[in-house]
Amino acid sequence: ASVFETVPQAPADVIFSLTAAYKADTNPNKINVGVGAFRTDELKPYVLPVVKKADAILFNDPSLDHEYLPIAGTPSYTRAAAKLILGEESPAIKENRVAAVQTISGTGSIHTGAMFLSKFYTKSRKCYISKPTWANHRNIFELVGFEVEDYPYWNPETRGLDYDRMIQTMRNAPNGSIFILHACAHNPTGVDPTQEQWKGIAEVMRAKGHFPFFDCAYQGFASGDLDRDAWAVRYFVQEGFELFVAQSFAKNFGLYGERAGNLTIVGKSPADTSRVLSQIEKLQRSEISNPPAYGSRIVDIVLNDPALYAEWKENLRYMSNRIIDMRKQLYDRLVQLGTPGTWNHITDQIGMFSFTGLKAPQVKVMKEKYHIYLTDNGRISMAGLSTKNIDYFARAIDDVVR
Ligand code: PMP
Repeated sequence: ASVFETVPQAPADVIFSLTAAYKADTNPNKINVGVGAFRTDELKPYVLPVVKKADAILFNDPSLDHEYLPIAGTPSYTRAAAKLILGEESPAIKENRVAAVQTISGTGSIHTGAMFLSKFYTKSRKCYISKPTWANHRNIFELVGFEVEDYPYWNPETRGLDYDRMIQTMRNAPNGSIFILHACAHNPTGVDPTQEQWKGIAEVMRAKGHFPFFDCAYQGFASGDLDRDAWAVRYFVQEGFELFVAQSFAKNFGLYGERAGNLTIVGKSPADTSRVLSQIEKLQRSEISNPPAYGSRIVDIVLNDPALYAEWKENLRYMSNRIIDMRKQLYDRLVQLGTPGTWNHITDQIGMFSFTGLKAPQVKVMKEKYHIYLTDNGRISMAGLSTKNIDYFARAIDDVVR
């Protein structure tokens, strides 16, 4: 008998199975609004023009080699990434209490932060994630041994934030609990707290001594404005919180497969921060030794060159505008069709995703009758829609909700 005889079969990943089913479908009208990757109006992957330029710089650099990067990554990259999220004028950067570690995209950043917390954070074993959230939050925090709890987030009645119940759960949570907060463009709902609500969240978190762990996978991609999308993180820093921010450059640079990420650490003092960094470097050594170089080199070049940086912002605006435009177009068509229900949540939500409010049985009809692939919770990736398929998509929604 095999030594692995008792290994149970794990379930397949929901999102990636959906893509496989979409690929296998031969219907010409099929639509994939499952996976969260940007597509052009021709529904093709988008290589940012600024990334192509950075690529050419790398290609023509005679001094480029393939040596190991430092364990914590390339300093010019991690410094630029921390500055991007915290802001040029961040008090924490000025006071020298920020450290950063290059990670395997956003997932690796959350994992590295979670791993560190599981070993060194002593105030609580509980970690709270929004209900619903990106499925990997639970996976990652359970993997490193936290008790993972939900906090209310989505209110199906208002199709908006369940603010009061969220705050209530924060109040009732044991002091010092860890809270995972989406910095902007909440996945999967597309609903973010307002600035006033963020202030309320910060107030309760301070009173309870909770630890904020921001997940920032969509900076600049959400609103098209890098500073606006970083507002919540910067507010917490200004309010004196110690915190972690997991950053991904998958979406905002279109570097999905290159796994360029960063973990920014804001501590109380330079000494605290540097001890934390030393332990995270030790963990990183045992997990990946050294981070991958290619994606981070692209980001490093762009963030540290004023002209390329300006061009990147234009590329970001193109992506976010296309998404916003698709929201408007979908909303207009549903209104034109007189589709039952209210649809303003489609244009109110931001980022890659929209939580349509479709229920699992309706999603099933979308798939079986219309060859439209989305997750059972009714989440759609706006990037899967285009000027060519939006009529068909709107008519399908109209049909399934009637
Ligand atoms: N957090 C959230 C909320 C996300 O949506 C994503 C991307 N799907 C990530 C983190 C990180 O993804 P990646 O590891 O590809 O950077």
